[in-house]
Formats: sequence, structure tokens, C-alpha cells
Amino acid sequence: MGVAKFVIVSWLAHKINNQEGHYTMSSRIRFQIFESESTFLHPRKGFNPVTEQFEVRVDPLTGRTGHFSHFGAIKPQKLDLKAYATPEIKGFCPFCLENRGRVTPKFTHDIVAEGRLVRNEACLIPNLFPYDIHSGVLIMTDSHVVSFEGLSEGRLFDTFFLGVEFLKRIKSISPELPYHLMTWNYMPPSGGGLVHPHQQYFATPNPGNQFLDELKASDVFHNTNGSNYWSELIEVEREQGKRFIGQIGKSYWLSSFVSFGLLGEILCIFPDVFSVNQFTEAHVKDLVAGLLKIFKYYEAADIYSFNASLFFGPEDQRSFACHFRIAARTFLNMRDYAPDLNFFQALLSEPVSVVKPEELCTNLKEYF
Ligand SMILES: [Zn+2]
Repeated sequence: MGVAKFVIVSWLAHKINNQEGHYTMSSRIRFQIFESESTFLHPRKGFNPVTEQFEVRVDPLTGRTGHFSHFGAIKPQKLDLKAYATPEIKGFCPFCLENRGRVTPKFTHDIVAEGRLVRNEACLIPNLFPYDIHSGVLIMTDSHVVSFEGLSEGRLFDTFFLGVEFLKRIKSISPELPYHLMTWNYMPPSGGGLVHPHQQYFATPNPGNQFLDELKASDVFHNTNGSNYWSELIEVEREQGKRFIGQIGKSYWLSSFVSFGLLGEILCIFPDVFSVNQFTEAHVKDLVAGLLKIFKYYEAADIYSFNASLFFGPEDQRSFACHFRIAARTFLNMRDYAPDLNFFQALLSEPVSVVKPEELCTNLKEYF
């Protein structure tokens, strides 16, 4: 029978004196960790007592919790990308060039007069199975199977630039739709239905629970403290240094205090961007530059798949900054392709991670 012991670790993040030592200001951002352990009689250790550590962390913005346990016990599985190109596995792909023009839909004339938006290899089409009023699919490449090496600076820039242009266009056509977002499943472990690289772009009044929870909490933080949560998070994390990965131009890269992914999560904040119209070519370049570094890390860490999102808040607010999130995904094993998400995420709405954010940060810093 296990025995659990709970230790609560909580602290206020402090903004320490600047060089001139004029003042000290406390941040209201709290990083709360419940450090716990569980003791049991271990079958491989002669049924002697063994104590395992785990943590529950509280997201400093939304107050939602995440579990951290099983540290280091789950390794990402290697994917055989070449196999995805073989005819028996590939099957029919609507995004491949030989099929694309014939089987993918076109936008109505009022939205995109030319039917599809194109920039080099990037090609934006409406989703044949829309999730929202404006539900765009951005095919990123001509090639069907593209490794991290193939997700080049040029391809990534064209993709994000075209996608953001599309969102700006929709905003001018349908200004009543307040929220804009990009989502991305890369490779099958992420839940992506097609291997051919593609992202999805939405303009919507219903951007999902995470988006709305963050939006509301950012507004409350702004009203209560008179400061912007996202800018303050950057400052506090930079000062503490444990989860601050780096800065590229106007983008700030952190490992999230509570991770969505089993293998951790990276957050990139654009503190000067509040709605999609403020996202410039320079921001796209910063985002791409950071992503290329993360992909280098993923390659070295044998990670082959991820989910990513990019959130843009509504017009006329200064509390909800634009941010990008990326979480690595894997199969738990290649024998029966068990996914890395289970009842925790599906029914408890609770993320679980086997990687400590501070460790992820240390590993990523080498690439920034
Ligand atoms: Zn294809």
C-alpha cells in the first residue's frame, strides 16, 4: 500500500533591484509546485520499500494543474519516415501535386478570388471538412514526406507569412470574428491525419477552451495588477533563468511551467503583438528562426512529431499577447502504436509530463 507525503513549494517571484537599485517590485505571478512522493514495496527490489517522486504544478495564469511524474522513463520512438513514402503506406494523398488541383476545394470569390492562395510551395485551401466559419488548410510543401531538415527557413517563412496574410484578409472581410489562430499536427503521433505537411488557420468566435481561459485570465491579471501577464512572465522567467531559453528579435522563448506534452512544451511570446494585424514579416522571421533551433534539438533528441499553435487575441486589448506553443509527441511504443495521451488528457483534462521544464530549458539553451 502506497504512502503519500505532500510538500508544498510556493513562492512569489520577485523583481529584484536594477543596477541602479532604485526600487524593488514584486510580481504577482506565482509558480506553485506540490512536490509529493509515493512509497510502495518494489517487486524487483525484494519487496523492499521504494519511494518515487512526482509533482503537481499550477499554471500561473489559468490556475489549471499538470502532473509531472515517471521522470525520464518514456523515450520518444523513432519513426521510419522513408516508409511513409512507400505506395502501400502512402495510399492516396489529396495534397500531392498530381491530385491537389483536382481534389482540393477552392475559396469562394469574395474570400480568395483566385481560389487558392499560393506563395512558392505554400498553398492555402479551404478545409473540405471545416471546423469553423473560416477554416483554412495550408499545404506547406510540394513533397509528401518532409523531415525536420526539409522544413527549411524558406518553406517555414512562406508558410507562416501566407497563413498570417490569410488571417489578416479574413479579418478585413469578417471583422466580427474576434479570434485568430494557427494549429499544426506534424507526423502521425501528433494525431495528424495526413503525413503531407500542413497547418490549419481559423478565424472564429469559438477558439477553444485553452484560448478563452487564457484570454479571460489575462484580462483579470491586467485589471487586478495593472500590468501585462505575458510581459511580466518574460521578465520574471528571465530573472529566474530556470525556464528562459532565449530571445530572438521580438520573440521570447521559454519552457512552460506546466507542460501540455508528455515530453514537455515550449512557449514563445510576442509581447508587442496583441492581434493578428500587428504580426509583421519581422515577427514571422523571429518565429521561424526559433523553430529552426527547436527542430535541431528535436533531431538530436529523436523527436519526430509535434503539435503547435499560434494565438492572436481580439482587437482593442493590451492584456493578451500573441504566443506560440509547441509540444513534442510520440507513440508510447511501436508494437501497438499506443498514443502518448490517455485518460488524463481525454477525460480528466489534465496534462502529464515526464520531462521537467527546467531540464528541457537547459537542453534547449544549447541550440539558442
Ligand atoms: Zn502528399
